[in-house]
Amino acid sequence: MVRRIVAENPGMMTGPGTNTYLVGIDEIAVIDPGPGDASHLDAIAGCGGDRIRWILLTHTHEDHSPGAVGLKKLTGAEILAFGPGEGKGKVRLDGTLGDGAVIEATEFHLTALHTPGHASNHLCYLLNEERTLFTGDHIMQGSTVVIGPPDGDMAAYFRSLEKLKTIRPRLKAIAPGHGHLIEDPMATIDEYIEHRRAREKQVLDDLRSRGTATIAELVEDIYADVAPELHPVAQRTVWAHLRKLADDGEAKGDRFDGEWSAT
Ligand SMILES: [Zn+2]
Repeated sequence: MVRRIVAENPGMMTGPGTNTYLVGIDEIAVIDPGPGDASHLDAIAGCGGDRIRWILLTHTHEDHSPGAVGLKKLTGAEILAFGPGEGKGKVRLDGTLGDGAVIEATEFHLTALHTPGHASNHLCYLLNEERTLFTGDHIMQGSTVVIGPPDGDMAAYFRSLEKLKTIRPRLKAIAPGHGHLIEDPMATIDEYIEHRRAREKQVLDDLRSRGTATIAELVEDIYADVAPELHPVAQRTVWAHLRKLADDGEAKGDRFDGEWSAT
């Protein structure tokens, strides 16, 4: 019922490349057509042709959504997402999907789950018949999810991970936006929550011991064992942690390039 085609956009943030999934046989839903790459779109259209009825986006970042436009031209399928987004991944939609919306095909049902955090318009899709959850960049395999404010929101991300716990007894597998199939959803969701809690504690502990610090200083402490070229990205995520800590009343500060202090 599910086929995967990997886009040719491997990289630091995308792992082996963006996963495009084709769900169904007689009627096909494509999840995340990827960047607007002609040979990738031809491969998708070659696989599904005019049986492709829906182009579903997990979110509107440039490695996931821009291909929707070209794929629609090739197939006539409608483009659906939580919202059109902004910036390089912005897409003109044919309709929106809210939390709990269902795509009903003859052979399958896909249920949209709103999972903001990585992006405010992020959706996961549950394929009920195969108990598989397509997680986009909410959970991925082999690389770490970046939470970049202001559209990325750490408190929302925690809540969206907790939300997956409510459906995980029904899950057999997670099909992520990057990397290979994850066959132990229970453990993986727990690990994600645990990893984020540990990071948050590290950020708070370091901030408390320094008293006052910039995000760059915190990243140098906490990500000492991580390649320096990843530090700019880590800074975004630390910012997201700090904003959550500020909401929780544990930290003071606001700006990415400003000073932060423990309360
Ligand atoms: Zn991605």
